[in-house]
Parts: sequence; C-alpha cells; structure tokens
Amino acid sequence: MTGTVPEPGLLALAADGVMTGATSHYEKRLGDMAGVYRDDDAYRAALAEHGPDFLVYRVEEHRNAEGQGALIIGTSTLQPGRYGDEFAVTRGHLHAQADRAELYYCLSGTGVMLLETLDGRTEALPMGPGEAVHVPGHWVHRSVNVGTEPFVSLFCYGADAGQDYELIRAAGGMKSLVVADGPGGWSTRPNPDHLGYPAR
Ligand code: MN
Repeated sequence: MTGTVPEPGLLALAADGVMTGATSHYEKRLGDMAGVYRDDDAYRAALAEHGPDFLVYRVEEHRNAEGQGALIIGTSTLQPGRYGDEFAVTRGHLHAQADRAELYYCLSGTGVMLLETLDGRTEALPMGPGEAVHVPGHWVHRSVNVGTEPFVSLFCYGADAGQDYELIRAAGGMKSLVVADGPGGWSTRPNPDHLGYPAR
C-alpha cells in the first residue's frame, strides 16, 4: 500500500469457491458448530461419524484496507449436510455495525439465504447459480445448503461491518429453521427454542 491509497485487487473466482488473489482464509469444522443445530443428538452423531475436523465451510477473502469505505470481497463454500431434518448452515450473524449491508452472489450449488430482523420478520430466499441476494443492514443472515453439492457464494460487504455471532446463540438459535421437506425440497419451520432477539 502506498500512502493511504489501497492497491486494486484482481480476483479470479472459481465455481468451487477457490479465489485466486485472496489475502486470507478461514475454515469452520464440525467441532466448531456445537450448539448451532437444534437436534443436538443428530449433531453428536455426525461428530462421532465424521470427527471434529470434518470441513463444514471455508471462506476466502480479499482485504486491501481497513475501516469505513473499504470492502471485504470473498467466497463462502458451504458443504452439504443434514442434522436431523435441518440443512447445513453457516453460524450466521448480525453485523456489529448493524446498518451495514452485504451482497451474496451464488456461483454454484443450491442454497437459501435465511434473513431475520430483531423484531421478528423472516425471509428465506432461494439462491442458485447467477442469483444474488442483497442483504440490507439490520438483518441477521445465514447461508443454508439445501442441495447435495457445495453451495458457493461470492460476498461483498463493508470492512467496518464486523460480525456479532453471539446474538443468535443468546436467542436460542434463529427464529426459523430450514428443513428438508419431501424429495429435494425444503421449507422453513419455527424454532421452538428461539427466545426472541434482544433489543439492540
Ligand atoms: Mn455478513
């Protein structure tokens, strides 16, 4: 970086989520997902079958600056799976700076963007290749893989947004679950453990 002017990034995005030009990455493994799924017996059975190092999702990111005005651009690759009748999910979050929006653009696979407001609205938007979701500020969001292949998205959000991962845990999970519904189908179902989101 020269002075305060960041360098441009040239990124190549593959349908499998590999992003040439990424500056960092992280992975979430099955052992990191304790408490995320409502059916804890199903989660424990998966843990016993696959082990704690089983890959659940991988995020690659390109960052070239910090703070207001800068973007974080990357790919999220969520493996398929089921825990009881609940489909594989990312942990989900509200942005720590809650008014910050985000773009998700599906590169491959079949997924759902599950969106909730703190005052109880839910949206579950289907995503396939070429489809995008514009996540506004003030919406809790989580990716769900409802298919049998990896669900891969390009994302882009403000570098000062941050993530509040604690909110969903404190609420007893998101208000809605995305569950299997017939062959190849999915639907949402209320999560009876959801306590409501705290005012924020
Ligand atoms: Mn986000």
